[in-house]
Amino acid sequence: MDFAFNNSFHDAMEGFYAPAEAAKPSVPMLLAFNPVLAARLGLVSDGVNDDQIARIFSGMEMPAGANPLAFAYAGHQFGHFSAQLGDGRALLLGEIIAPDGARFDVQLKGSGPTAFSRNGDGKAAIGPVLREFLVSEAMAAMGVPTTRSLAAVATGDRVQREQTHPGAVLTRIASSHIRVGTFQFFAAHFGVEHVTQLSDYTIHRHFLELAAASNRHLALLDRVIGLQCDLVAHWLGIGFIHGVMNTDNVAISGETIDYGPCAFMDRFAVETVFSSIDANGRYAYGRQPQIMHWNMARFAEALLPAIHAVDPADVDRAKAMVEAIPDRFRVIWHHRMRSKLGLVQAGEADGRLIDALFAELEQHRVDFTSFFRALAQLLRGDGATLQALLPDAEAMAPWIADWWVQFERFAIAPLERADAMDAVNPVYIPRNHQVERALVAAEAGDMAPWRALLEVVQNPYVVRPEWDDYAHPAPIDSVPHVTFCGT
Ligand code: AMP
Ligand code: MG
Repeated sequence: MDFAFNNSFHDAMEGFYAPAEAAKPSVPMLLAFNPVLAARLGLVSDGVNDDQIARIFSGMEMPAGANPLAFAYAGHQFGHFSAQLGDGRALLLGEIIAPDGARFDVQLKGSGPTAFSRNGDGKAAIGPVLREFLVSEAMAAMGVPTTRSLAAVATGDRVQREQTHPGAVLTRIASSHIRVGTFQFFAAHFGVEHVTQLSDYTIHRHFLELAAASNRHLALLDRVIGLQCDLVAHWLGIGFIHGVMNTDNVAISGETIDYGPCAFMDRFAVETVFSSIDANGRYAYGRQPQIMHWNMARFAEALLPAIHAVDPADVDRAKAMVEAIPDRFRVIWHHRMRSKLGLVQAGEADGRLIDALFAELEQHRVDFTSFFRALAQLLRGDGATLQALLPDAEAMAPWIADWWVQFERFAIAPLERADAMDAVNPVYIPRNHQVERALVAAEAGDMAPWRALLEVVQNPYVVRPEWDDYAHPAPIDSVPHVTFCGT
């Protein structure tokens, strides 16, 4: 397999990473490969057999042109600053240029210890690897900015967690791995020259159009805030809970990164938390916009020396930009919700309608994903689908009447509106009980349920009767779902 490596970070950013070597797996075995993504990246896998793919994407064989390295970064974890994190269980093979000119990082996750492993083993267990593969590909299919998954390879070794599990390596593709925590690391340990160098590299790589701004670092802050507002609005719109929104898990590119204890909500509750390590609900569903705001304040702090060096007066502008985040988010969020609700233009009642909707969904514990599809069915003359989600005929009736009134502002046929809603509201998400079932089977050596679920979540919008099982939440009396960290 040929990689068009072009390792700009390795070549231009010495001192911002540590060289790394992959541990040799005992018996690499391919679990999953993503041929569509490989083609998008320009990786030719025709004539390359599974064993060869497994050797490359487990770290057994280094492809020609790779410059394996571990990124240095810091981060606020659950609100507390750790000055020294870094890739402790991942290494960058290198960057490749896709046929359309886009640049991507190719990273192995779970490939053994690095200079930043501290007490960790640098390994990953099969469950979290297959979970990240599945969820990241589901996110991509739903149009959410995200890192992607190219391959999952079992290592043939055991990994010790609370119990021992089969080990695996995930190949993650990202438009870059620069994080808020990367900026924090160089702000904390080095200062303005390093922060400026990192900011310039980031601008050059992701946002070339900002290079000519009067204060390019301030322009970077503005751009990253916009991307984060967009991202979190996407998450809320599909009931996604990231689970560990630490600043080291916030990518500057605006992609969702580091799928650990993430999960999708079934029956709506704004305080929903799945992560076993988030006892205080810091990263609960409904807190994600506030946490994003908090994380962007940390990003601004890290960038401030570079912003100040260009123009001290811009420090106040940066502060104002951070203060404006809640308003900026609300505009983006309302826009997203309008598209989910089939409302084509902003209206005065939007805020009231959206807030009231969430209160109703919470009161009746409505399955979040099914609700929006059922609402579109109402426009097609089918009221029974929505009725089946609600406790009685009166529940939500006033809200539905209010929603219906909003349509009178637009001259669009109901069927057309219903189709527009279906195009943005998924039928199939990775439901927790299905994910769990697939991972348990995979760990026992049966990949069939995982493969079936992957195919379903890669096609989220079109109803297929044979996939009916995947479209519903777990029975109401099932055990509450808990997710665990530790890829
Ligand atoms: P995460 O929870 O994935 O965001 O990871 C937080 C930090 O812990 C990062 O610096 C990781 O590289 C590191 N880390 C997590 N798990 C391991 C492990 N098994 N071995 C070494 N480092 C790890
Ligand atoms: Mg992380």
